Amino acid sequence: MKKSVYIRTFGCQMNNRDSEFIGGVFIDKGYKLVDLPGEAGVILFNTCSVRAHAEERAISSMGQLMHEHKNRIYGIVGCAAQALGEGLFKRLPGLNIVCGTGEITRLPELVKEAENGRVLALEDKDALLPELKPTYRQDKDAAYVSIMRGCDNFCAYCIVPYVRGRERSRSADGIISEIRDLAGQGIRDVTLLGQNVNSYRPKAEGRRSKAYGFVELLCDVNKIDGIEKINFMTSHPKDATGALFKAMKNLDKVRKHLHLPLQSGSDRILKLMQRGYTRGGYFDLISEALAVIPGLRVTTDIIVGFPGEGEEDFGKTRSLMEEMKFDSAYIFKYSPRAGTEAAKMPDDVSLRLKKERHKTLLDLQRSISKGKAHEKTDCCHCT
Ligand code: SF4
Repeated sequence: MKKSVYIRTFGCQMNNRDSEFIGGVFIDKGYKLVDLPGEAGVILFNTCSVRAHAEERAISSMGQLMHEHKNRIYGIVGCAAQALGEGLFKRLPGLNIVCGTGEITRLPELVKEAENGRVLALEDKDALLPELKPTYRQDKDAAYVSIMRGCDNFCAYCIVPYVRGRERSRSADGIISEIRDLAGQGIRDVTLLGQNVNSYRPKAEGRRSKAYGFVELLCDVNKIDGIEKINFMTSHPKDATGALFKAMKNLDKVRKHLHLPLQSGSDRILKLMQRGYTRGGYFDLISEALAVIPGLRVTTDIIVGFPGEGEEDFGKTRSLMEEMKFDSAYIFKYSPRAGTEAAKMPDDVSLRLKKERHKTLLDLQRSISKGKAHEKTDCCHCT
């Protein structure tokens, strides 16, 4: 078998970073990364399971590749592998490896084992990936840096805590040393990644006390020579605080951009979603952030058609969007994920209504974004 790997990523930035990590693990074992599946001895899909769509697309594309390229080792890795497990072998009979999120460092070994039969590796979704030097990066100017894995929030619709495990923070020393190495390689722009970066809380180490958290990490990263821009995602409204906003204002390298998922403007739906904040609390938080950070850009995520979402609930989301005037919003149609709390609720908003509501909010956001772009253009003309 050729010692070459093709890795395709489906889903979020966290998965993109994991794919780079997997690439680095294979390079360390003497493999070459290739851009075309036809050139690879090992074909891996790193697949997100947060949305059914990504999962289905990955399975059907891999089926197609298996038909085109025989005698390869095929593997599905990441969240979808963790969630679907052995069932994937039934859906894709030519599949050799199913590898969960916590086992990706073992992939080169698993490839060897797979030469003698199917391999299922799902043991440790709660593992914190070891500190590895950033051997492989797709982009030469910007880099994603995972600061934590997993999530403890258990929002009713979300599969992440079940497939990526409970929240574990990397050590600040490990993160800072990785970013210093990146700066040494010429990377200027870093994005700190986690499901809920505001609850970053590493174990106390050396001079760092128990109180060391995300704000302190931002301050330390801001001091690293060579780094010019710092972004982070994602924040959770229940953990974003005034201390974060002050740090964003004062730290010169931190981008003045806050992505704060709202999900719904209805208190009743927020409660069903188990989000841990209210419409009023969210409004106050954004108002505070805007007051503290001049020129702040605010973006959000919204889900339409959550179980039980009536016209009144939807109207509350729409009216909050009108009030907040987000710079941009990612709007999703709810689809149940097996194993979550929401999947036990009746999926009682019809697809037609979900599509209608999705379009209504997309149109609304488009007109808000257009209006804001005009305001900025007018402003530029004035100055
Ligand atoms: S905060 Fe909620 S939506 Fe975000 S990853 Fe955690 S459980 Fe999922």
